Amino acid sequence: MAKGNIGVTTDNIFPVIKKFLYSDHEIFLRELVSNAVDATQKLKTLASVGEYQGEVGDLQVEVKLDAEAGTLTISDRGVGMTAEEIEKYINQIAFSGATDFLDKYKEDANAIIGHFGLGFYSAFMVAKQVEIFTKSYTDAPAQHWSCDGSPEYTLEACDKAERGTDIVLHIDDDNKDFLEEARISGLLTKYCKFLPVPIAFGTKKEWKDGKEVETNEPNIINNPEPAWTKKPADLKDEDYANFYRELYPYAEDPLFHIHLNVDYPFNLTGILYFPRIKNNIDLQRNKIQLYCNQVFVTDSVEGIVPDFLTLLHGVIDSPDIPLNVSRSYLQSDQNVKKISTHITKKVADRLQEIFKNERASFEEKWDALRIFIVYGMLSDEKFYDRAKEFALLQNVDGKAFTFTEYKDLISVEQTDKDGNVIYLYATNAEEQHAYIEAAKNKGYDVLLMDGQLDIHWISQLEQKNEKSRFVRVDSDVVEKLIVKADAPKVTLNAEQQTALTSLFQSQLPKLNKTEFLVTMEQLGADDQPIVITQNEFMRRMKDMSATGGGNPMMSFYGEMPDSYNLVVNTAHPLVDVLLKEEDAACSEKINPLVDAIGQLEKRRNEIKDTHKDKKDEEVPQAEKAELETLDKQIGELSAQKKTVYATFAATQPKIKQLIDIALLANNMLKGKDLSDFVKRSISLLK
Ligand code: ADP
Ligand code: MG
Repeated sequence: MAKGNIGVTTDNIFPVIKKFLYSDHEIFLRELVSNAVDATQKLKTLASVGEYQGEVGDLQVEVKLDAEAGTLTISDRGVGMTAEEIEKYINQIAFSGATDFLDKYKEDANAIIGHFGLGFYSAFMVAKQVEIFTKSYTDAPAQHWSCDGSPEYTLEACDKAERGTDIVLHIDDDNKDFLEEARISGLLTKYCKFLPVPIAFGTKKEWKDGKEVETNEPNIINNPEPAWTKKPADLKDEDYANFYRELYPYAEDPLFHIHLNVDYPFNLTGILYFPRIKNNIDLQRNKIQLYCNQVFVTDSVEGIVPDFLTLLHGVIDSPDIPLNVSRSYLQSDQNVKKISTHITKKVADRLQEIFKNERASFEEKWDALRIFIVYGMLSDEKFYDRAKEFALLQNVDGKAFTFTEYKDLISVEQTDKDGNVIYLYATNAEEQHAYIEAAKNKGYDVLLMDGQLDIHWISQLEQKNEKSRFVRVDSDVVEKLIVKADAPKVTLNAEQQTALTSLFQSQLPKLNKTEFLVTMEQLGADDQPIVITQNEFMRRMKDMSATGGGNPMMSFYGEMPDSYNLVVNTAHPLVDVLLKEEDAACSEKINPLVDAIGQLEKRRNEIKDTHKDKKDEEVPQAEKAELETLDKQIGELSAQKKTVYATFAATQPKIKQLIDIALLANNMLKGKDLSDFVKRSISLLK
């Protein structure tokens, strides 16, 4: 029997393995099974080139549990090892600069294991003793190697009739869970599902007479020829759909797939699927899986595919992605950058192709696609340039247009006097119904921009397209949404305007965090008497602050109250009637106040006139005091006027009624205000 020390430069590698690699214990199984697969593939190659001429036989890899003996065994019928090979490949672990590296990557077991070719030694993460029984495909005698986790091993010849290798792990007491069938079965499914050699774990079970019974048939846990390893020409749509189900048994059928197949300047194969996403839970659940020669590596592909494409599903397999290094390194790796660019381009190509050849089906899928596409446009310039050709705008009638098509459609009707094309949009077809109707009646088209990212997309489209502006249908009265000529002037005199402002201001509801500003517009006699609008800029800032993250300017807007304009249509007959009634009821009280204010203002203007070219300190003190008194008096009289108007307004239920109708059209009339409105409406009918 030979004895020796494993050739490592650190004193003892095993404590390192156990301590640092604790979190990723389970990957030992991936490492051992893929070694078995490698050995099997090597044998196949030797046989195919005639270097091995014996019987190849059944090449299945087997994983066996013996709970009683406390062992887990991985067996293959691959090339096996001679004593020299064990000496060379197992006993000598080339290990330079190890301590530095371990320090740097101690959190990342993948990095350590892969970097040093420590695959085999990962067995010691879970085993107190590891044995190798192996017989080379050459005539060399079979060997038994054993090591109990100290750097000391034994190696001796043994009886083993069959070619190949058995790795026997004596599972240690801290890791008993690896003796459970369900645990091992789960790990095999996770890591080995698509390895290229059949892997058997126990035997198949069957339901017989309400009981589960063992059969003689080996339980093959993997699909050695997954769809992505085949040629696209050999696959039908159905095969792609079946493979999707194999990956994500509970997900809904995907929208379509993209088969990736690159061999220069890097190797990459894979199939990506556009999933049907219903909600955020779906977004989290299924992810792109990354493989390296059919060995599962990870399902966190951040850094390898662009962010917006992490929403896709499917598989990427590449031996050229440096899997064994840290994430931050990944992001600066040139190969990874090329891969990422390539995937983006392929995705754009495929979308373009479907758009061109199957426009109807593309439109039908748009709702499910747009989150990817818009996210991609916002986050990736190159993708924007491609996607602007097929990204769709949808109007409130459900018709879809590319940006260019839509611009052509609306530019005649919807260009303002400064040459800006105005894209009218709604964010909620129900709530903004009255405004949408008004715009349509005017011959305008209205887009529906109700996607989660649309508010940001709108800003992008405005930036990218000169002389294009997006305006929400309720951001102004319809006449002013698209300003084609200077608006007609309000014909009322100043006092009439003050009266109307006071009448409506005094009857406005007190809503939490909401402000109203009463303004006048000379609209048409057939337009609504009162319209409530919200300034486009302010509203957008608030919307962005709701989805915009930590920008302090954005959260400043978020804190502001909602401010609305209550627009009084001075051309409406009802407003005319209201003014006449006000005059009849209030003039007796108002006229003396107006006269008195007029006198005071006259005096104030006189004083101001005589001093208009003087600096503040040159105005005599006495006159300054008089001005102050005048201002105070004017203020008091104006307040009295307001009270007169308010008192009158309170006797006029129709003022509240007009306000409420406008609020109702804006979906802002709720709770008690709504019940009051209903009661008032009925009593007004009496
Ligand atoms: P790697 O697989 O990256 O080479 P490992 O530590 O996993 O590193 O394995 C070291 C070497 O041991 C392998 O390259 C191979 O030569 C040999 N080896 C391991 N397992 C087997 C096996 N089941 N059959 C034959 N050779 C094996
Ligand atoms: Mg290996």
